[in-house]
Amino acid sequence: QIIRESEALEFYPATYTLADIGGLKALKEWLRMRELAFSQRAREYGLPVPKGIALIGIPGTGKSLTAKMIGGLWHLPLLRLDVGALFGSLVGESEERTRRALHLAETIAPCILWIDEMEKALAHGGLDSGTSTRVFGNILTWMQEKSAPVFVVATANDISSLPPELLRRGRFDEIFFLDLPNHEERMEIFSVHLQKRKRLPEDYDLELLADRSEGYVGAEIEQAVIDAMYIGFNDGEREFTTEDILTALKRQVPLSVSQREIVA
Ligand code: ATP
Repeated sequence: QIIRESEALEFYPATYTLADIGGLKALKEWLRMRELAFSQRAREYGLPVPKGIALIGIPGTGKSLTAKMIGGLWHLPLLRLDVGALFGSLVGESEERTRRALHLAETIAPCILWIDEMEKALAHGGLDSGTSTRVFGNILTWMQEKSAPVFVVATANDISSLPPELLRRGRFDEIFFLDLPNHEERMEIFSVHLQKRKRLPEDYDLELLADRSEGYVGAEIEQAVIDAMYIGFNDGEREFTTEDILTALKRQVPLSVSQREIVA
């Protein structure tokens, strides 16, 4: 649902919970600790209102998933800022759209503002770099000066394309780097996606699945579970097995980290 007063902001429904995310323990714990951060009780206690976090990492590791989950966890509206849609062709139009979107977020506060693909603000194709720099600068200044409780979740794929001033201490409460999941995390991610498809994780060999999925991200693990379902379905609609998931994993060639950077 696009918000009428801004072409770049849209409301996102709260569709995910903490249980939908495998791994990312530190990040989930950080968010869980702040579940009541915007409440009256927190204010009376004197807790500072969290400003925002940056989630940086290769595609398919759960950045968008986490951003979508926070709104539900904290019971706050979630707004997604489409950075690409901030840019217009008229002189001053991009800055005006940026101002309008950020102002709108403040009027909706307390809320979560998810700035998706933050690096896009800097490298907007076809535009003079001056406009990109100004739009990016306006967002940074606003982040520093905003008085309304708008919690910023900035997601980005490629750290090297982000200017150091974005990541400077104080801009965000915390910066989380999302990397390839380790063995234990892959077991958890398989478990999440099996449960999502109404299957009991204990009916599957999670250890073996995790052993054979080194180098795969969450999105690829999810895909392997879905592909295995198709294998079972097309084979007389039988229940899909650990073996089917292994077959599906083998068919998918995981990208190397450098290939992932190219795709991103
Ligand atoms: P991109 O940078 O391409 O947007 P992303 O890091 O935001 O990638 P998501 O969009 O969050 O990745 O992941 C895609 C899908 O993969 C999710 O909707 C989810 O189903 C699955 N997935 C990714 N990471 C995890 C995880 N840690 N636990 C469970 N599922 C995951």
